[in-house]
Amino acid sequence: MTQVTSSSTATFRALKCKECGEEYELAALHVCEFCFGPLEVVYDLSSLRGRVTRESIQEGPHSIWRYRPFLPVATENPIDVGTGMTPLVRANRLARRLGLKNLLIKNDAVNMPTLSFKDRVVSVALTRARELGFTTVSCASTGNLANSTAAIAAHAGLDCCVFIPADLEAGKVLGTLIYGPTVIAVQGNYDQVNRLCSEVANTHPWGFVNINLRPYYSEGSKTLGYEVAEQLGWQLPDHVVAPLASGSLFTKIYKGFQDFIQVGLVEDKVVRFSGAQAEGCSPIAQAFAEERDFITPVKPSTIAKSIAIGNPADGVYALEIARKTGGNISAVSDAEIVEGMKLLAETEGIFTETAGGTTIAVLQKLVAAGKIDPEETTVAYITGNGLKTQEAVQGYIGEPLTIQPNLEGFERALERSKTLHRLEWQPVLV
Ligand SMILES: *Cc1c(COP(=O)(O)O)cnc(C)c1O
Repeated sequence: MTQVTSSSTATFRALKCKECGEEYELAALHVCEFCFGPLEVVYDLSSLRGRVTRESIQEGPHSIWRYRPFLPVATENPIDVGTGMTPLVRANRLARRLGLKNLLIKNDAVNMPTLSFKDRVVSVALTRARELGFTTVSCASTGNLANSTAAIAAHAGLDCCVFIPADLEAGKVLGTLIYGPTVIAVQGNYDQVNRLCSEVANTHPWGFVNINLRPYYSEGSKTLGYEVAEQLGWQLPDHVVAPLASGSLFTKIYKGFQDFIQVGLVEDKVVRFSGAQAEGCSPIAQAFAEERDFITPVKPSTIAKSIAIGNPADGVYALEIARKTGGNISAVSDAEIVEGMKLLAETEGIFTETAGGTTIAVLQKLVAAGKIDPEETTVAYITGNGLKTQEAVQGYIGEPLTIQPNLEGFERALERSKTLHRLEWQPVLV
């Protein structure tokens, strides 16, 4: 395996154990040999102070690669499929419904190329995989990761073999197969798929984006922090709400904000971090509620499959961030998740998947409980697209009014639709 040395703008310098601090070379490693702690990329960010400016970033590409000096790749030519720079939209109608004044949606439901935030982590992981000399890439996925890995591998000309639980939504399976990878459907839950992949990683010289490449992969989520700061006019929000599966995304949004503070791109402040889980898989929310600092693994059973990780690798770090920033971690039922999906669609025109429904439902719950102040500038992270989890809302939404092709038929249908809508909820203005 070839080790690529850093170019002039690359600032990543080592891997370091998050628990004991032992440092390692920048190879395909993810666990500490001494204490089994997770490894994380360390940078020499002080060298960027004054060298990377708001202007130099704005002159960069319209993708996550405008933040390249903060990412763990050496190449000047990363795999750029237009990932990132998704809209940050002011959500006034949803805000009014919930009783908030300053709510924004970071909309990764329209991320490129596969409509979820996973395109960020995979763009980084595959760029690094190529630098490290891998020709086959792989992953253990809850659905979206398989979509991203297969698509971006196809673009980069890498061989691809992905592992998914056999019971995934049809849209996620089809949205992987179309790119022509080898798809292994494992009869088991994600945690079992992940365990199997760790064994495969020992016997096959492949780059597993979320196993042996995990330290590089996870850094891609920092761009969700960078972009929000830039899109808010180089300011940090007061409060963020994001979904938790392994907890990685959540901790890396935090790290993204810290990086920008450290380099002097934004002013220092405490951003409150709140996390969302589904009740059917809420090991981190349970630990938060019971004030534990360890996670008790659970067996997932929820429609929110993309975030159904029963044994979350970064759970304790997510807990720590929620606690020290004055945030919260809560869970909602599957029925509330469906309501969350509908609410976001009907108020903002954004069709999110179950993970996004979870985030909106938890947002609503936290506002109702007084855990989010109406005045706070709050950003809700919508991480995936509803077209991929159509099963979740089937039977909970209306049907088209079928008519004969004449005006009379239309007028009758219109009358019927008025009666239907009168029965439904009316907006309460706050
Ligand atoms: C994977 C995923 C998450 C959470 O990812 P973690 O980093 O493991 O916490 C959230 N939303 C969607 C749509 C996902 O696919």
